[in-house]
Amino acid sequence: MTLYDERRVALMKEVDADAFLVANLEGSDAATLRYLTGFTGEGALLVTREGGLLLTDSRYTEQAGREVPRLPVGPVTGEYPQAVAAALKERSLKRVAFASRRLSHYWVLRLRGRRAFRLVALEDPVMALRSIKGEAEIEKIRRAASVAEAALADLLETIRIGMTEREIALDLEWRMRERGAEGPAFELIVAAGKNSALPHYRPGERKIAEADLLLFDIGAQVDGYCSDLTRVVAVGRVPARAKELYDLVLRANRAGVEAVAPGASARDVDAAARAVIADAGHGDHFGHGLGHGVGLEIHEGPHVSPRSDETLQARMVTTIEPGVYLPGFGGVRIEDLVAVREGGRELLTRFPSEALVKVG
Ligand code: ZN
Ligand code: ZN
Repeated sequence: MTLYDERRVALMKEVDADAFLVANLEGSDAATLRYLTGFTGEGALLVTREGGLLLTDSRYTEQAGREVPRLPVGPVTGEYPQAVAAALKERSLKRVAFASRRLSHYWVLRLRGRRAFRLVALEDPVMALRSIKGEAEIEKIRRAASVAEAALADLLETIRIGMTEREIALDLEWRMRERGAEGPAFELIVAAGKNSALPHYRPGERKIAEADLLLFDIGAQVDGYCSDLTRVVAVGRVPARAKELYDLVLRANRAGVEAVAPGASARDVDAAARAVIADAGHGDHFGHGLGHGVGLEIHEGPHVSPRSDETLQARMVTTIEPGVYLPGFGGVRIEDLVAVREGGRELLTRFPSEALVKVG
C-alpha cells in the first residue's frame, strides 16, 4: 500500500458511508485532494472501501497519469457533479459523505434529491487525519521553514530607511523562490510602524522610517507544505517602548512553546501565553488565537485558542504566535513553528528571537 492508500483506508474507517466525495475545482479543495491522492490538478475524488476513483478532465489527464498512476481515473467531458452522480449510480454507492466545510453549496444542490444515493454531511473528517503529521511531512515543513528563514536573514542585511513595505515583500518572495520555494505560503506580510498593529495587514507603499517597528509574517511553500514565521525588528534604533513590548511578547511566546506537549489541551496552551500578556495589562490587545496547525494549508488543525476543545498529540505541528497590538503605535508578534513530540516539543523554527534587533 502506498502512503495515499493508507490515508484513504484510514479515512474510510472514520466515515460511516459507502463513499467520500472530494472536489477540487479552481483550487476549492486542493489540499484534501492532494493529501488523499498526491494529485495536484483539478478534479473530483470518490474514496471508497475498494480504493477510489479520480474523475478529471482532459486538461489534467496526462498529469493524473504521472501523479497517480495506481488510481483509476475516469474522464469528465461535461459537468463535474453530473459525472460524479453517474459514477455513484454505476457503482451502487448509496451513502455519500462529504465535508461541509469544503464542498460548495453548488455541489450539494446539484447532487441532492436523487434516488440512487443519499448525501451525508460531515464537518471535515480528513482534517483530523491531516493534523497528525508523518515524519516526511514534518521534514517538508522544516525545509519550508528554513527557506523562509534564510531569505529573511539575507534580506535584513539589505534593509534601508526609505524602502517601501511592498518592495521588501517582493524581495523576500524572490529570495524564497531562489532557494527552492514553489512560492510564498500566503500573501507575505511586511508591516512598518503603525501598520504593524494590524495583524493581517497587506503591504503597501509606506516607506520604512527611523524608529519603526518592522513586522514580517512570512512563509514558504516547499513540496506542497507551508511554513509560517513572524519576526519583528526595529529600524535605525530601538525605542524603549518597543523593547518593552517585544520582551513581553517574547515571554508569552516562550510560555506558549513550553506548554506544548502531547496530552495538553490546546486551550491550556493558549492560556499559558495569554496569561503573560493579560498580567501585563494588555489582554485587550491580543485578540486572536495563539496558534494554528500548518501543513498542506497555512491554516489547519489543531486550533490553539481559548475556544478550542482539541488535545495536542504527538506529531501535530502548530504555530505559537502571541501578539500585542497598540493602535497608533505598532504591534509585536513572535511566531514559531512547533512539532509536538513524545514528552515535549521540537522547535521547527531556527530564526533567533531572543532580542529586538536593529536593522538599517
Ligand atoms: Zn504567520
Ligand atoms: Zn500563523
